[in-house]
Amino acid sequence: MPIKAYDILAKLSDADHIEKPPTVYRALEFLLENQLIHKIESSNSYIGCEFAHEQHQSQFLVCDSCNEVMELQEPLLNSALAETSESKGFVVRQTHVEIHGVCADCAN
Ligand SMILES: [Zn+2]
Ligand SMILES: [Zn+2]
Repeated sequence: MPIKAYDILAKLSDADHIEKPPTVYRALEFLLENQLIHKIESSNSYIGCEFAHEQHQSQFLVCDSCNEVMELQEPLLNSALAETSESKGFVVRQTHVEIHGVCADCAN
């Protein structure tokens, strides 16, 4: 389940008494850079990575009903996006794919 930076902040605040926001955002940056977590742009929240052991580019299935996020790794999708962008002369800096819908649990 994705969590908000604010919630991470609240959790850490329970743990000790250091001045919080800069510390938390630095920690988030570190986790993001190392792909230990991902930011879900559409809900401005974060999820733990399921493939943290390797460099990767993921897609995210976002359930609009329960907010659950599933991380996918589909290399064909990545290469298709890269090729299509290149064919338009577009230089890709970053790809972030979020697919919205309803998860299996909520669909039942
Ligand atoms: Zn990941
Ligand atoms: Zn759901």
